[in-house]
Amino acid sequence: MKVIDNRAVSVIQLFRKELESLYSKEEIETFLFFSFNEYFGFSRSDLALKKEIRLSESELLKFFRVIRKLRQHVPIQYILGNTEFYGLKLNVNEHVLIPRPETEELVEWVITDCGFLIEELRINSQSKIHNPQLNIIDIGTGSGCIAITLKKNIPDAEVYALDISENALTVAKQNAEMNNAEIHFVQGDILAKSPNHQIAKSPFQIIVSNPPYIIEKEKPEMSANVLDYEPHTALFVPDNDALLFYRSILDFGKTNLSAGGKIYFELNTNYADDVAALAKSKGFINCIIKKDLSGNQRMFSCEKIN
Ligand code: GLN
Repeated sequence: MKVIDNRAVSVIQLFRKELESLYSKEEIETFLFFSFNEYFGFSRSDLALKKEIRLSESELLKFFRVIRKLRQHVPIQYILGNTEFYGLKLNVNEHVLIPRPETEELVEWVITDCGFLIEELRINSQSKIHNPQLNIIDIGTGSGCIAITLKKNIPDAEVYALDISENALTVAKQNAEMNNAEIHFVQGDILAKSPNHQIAKSPFQIIVSNPPYIIEKEKPEMSANVLDYEPHTALFVPDNDALLFYRSILDFGKTNLSAGGKIYFELNTNYADDVAALAKSKGFINCIIKKDLSGNQRMFSCEKIN
């Protein structure tokens, strides 16, 4: 790869030239910002203001690598090794799903509801001094994005995070440490006939999950950067069982939630009503479906009676 000189502006031009046939203008500008932010701490306006700075040989090579990988459709978050989620920096690699903005909306909902729940628990236990126990579990934690942001925003909660993948748990543990969040990580398979149900000493008040929910048939609609690089175990369920994980997690909830405890899901928008019907058939009440910012039915919550 060749650049006319070692000024930032020349690197910026190279980015645009090498990537224009593969990505939109907006995407390329985002990649530029992410890369210059990662390697030089640039803000968006620095990209225009500091474009005459000179890059060393090794700095140039870093940018060439980014361009090369982007040309292979590797997601920018994997190339740089991190992303931002709900205001926190999280490491990501090809063993974990890249956290999505929709999942930030799910986290926001849980945090808001937990504020109310803590108040209610306090009133019920008539104790203004001691914080009531709030046990939360994130099933299929991946990068740990949900568990970590919940712990940071609800510090009194005991947060558990389950994943089947040791490699994902390694990333999630690093992220928890990096963000000073104390999480109980558990390796386990929620689909196993008898998963380790005794994860915590007391029942959970909250179960949250963004499980695999894309059916194989939906593959053709997906872009190469997702299909070729993100972990398929985190994305896909078989065509004939779109509700596989929702069913297992609801069953887990029946035995592991306290009375009045809640389950929160991220949804495949095409199966929102089916998830609600399934939860109702299993005796859960107060089923709510919420839309995400793009207007798709994306989040769900329900409550256990007793
Ligand atoms: N909980 C993680 C996330 O929301 C991982 C989800 C998954 O791998 N399906 O990004």
